[in-house]
Amino acid sequence: MSIKLYSRLSLLIGILAVVNIQGCKDDGYSIAVPICTCVLRGTLMSTENFTQAKVTSIVDELVTNASEVVWYPGAGITLLELLNENGDIPILDDTDVFAGEKGDVVWNPQGISEGTEIAGRCRAAWGKSLIPDVLVLVITRSIINSDGSSTGLTGLVEPGRKLIERNQGADLCSLPRNLTRDDMKGKFILLEDPKPYIEPNFYKKYYWSTVLAHEMGHILMLGHGDGLDNDSDHLRQPLNSGPRLFDEYCDPVEYQKERFVGTDNVMTEKSGYSKAVTDLQRELARTVASLMPGAQGPN
Ligand SMILES: [Zn+2]
Repeated sequence: MSIKLYSRLSLLIGILAVVNIQGCKDDGYSIAVPICTCVLRGTLMSTENFTQAKVTSIVDELVTNASEVVWYPGAGITLLELLNENGDIPILDDTDVFAGEKGDVVWNPQGISEGTEIAGRCRAAWGKSLIPDVLVLVITRSIINSDGSSTGLTGLVEPGRKLIERNQGADLCSLPRNLTRDDMKGKFILLEDPKPYIEPNFYKKYYWSTVLAHEMGHILMLGHGDGLDNDSDHLRQPLNSGPRLFDEYCDPVEYQKERFVGTDNVMTEKSGYSKAVTDLQRELARTVASLMPGAQGPN
C-alpha cells in the first residue's frame, strides 16, 4: 500500500472515529483530542517544493502515527489533526528573527518563550476554524537558545509549573486529581522540522511520530521518567485514591535516581524510540485528555 493511500485511509478512520464518538456509538473508552497545526516559514515544508496538499498529508501522517504507535494502543487516546475552512494547514511568517534564522524559535527557560507568541499567531491564523483554546502544534525550523545556538531539542512543551506545584502538588499528584478544563486551555507543542520524515524510511518516520507522542505526553501532564513508582511510595492499586508519586513532576527525587537507569518509556528524556505507556501514565493521561479543549468521549 502506498504511503499516500495509508495516510488517506488513516484520515478516513480518524473522521469516522469522530463521527462515532459524536454520535451514538461511543465505545466508552476512546478519547479524541483535536490539534491544530501551523508550519513556520523557514522549514523545509514551507518551501515552494511542497504543495499545501503535500503539507497536509505529511502533518496528518505525523499526527496519525503518534496516535497509532503510542497513544491509542497505550491509553485509548487519539490525536485528531484538524484542517481549517480552506482545508489547509496555515503557513506562518516568522516575524521576529532576532536570533537564528527564519523559522527558528527561541526557548528561554527563565523567561517568556517566543513559542507563546508564535502559538498565539497560529491560533489567529486558524481564525474561525479554531476550536477555542485548542491544542496547537507549531512546526519550527529548529528550537534555539537566545544566543542563536541550538538547544538540541527536537520538541518542546513548556511545563505547567503552576499546575504541577498547585496545592503542594496534590492537585496533580494525588487521586482524585483536582484538574479542570481551564487548566488545559491554550497549550502548544513546538516540533523541530521533521525533515527526514519525508524520506521513504519508516524508522525515521516513526522516530518523529514518537517525538511528537513524547511531547503530547507532556501536554497530558506527564513528566520525564519511566512511568513507574520506582521507590514504591504511592498506593499500588491504580483504582485506589491517594498519592500518585512517580516521575519528574510528581516525584522529582525518584526521577533523579532513575533518569539514567529507568526502563525505556515514551516519557524517557531521550525519546524517539520507545512507545511504552504504563498504568500510572495511562491513568493521568486519560484524565487530562478528557479535559482538553474540544475533546470527545468517553461518556
Ligand atoms: Zn520531554
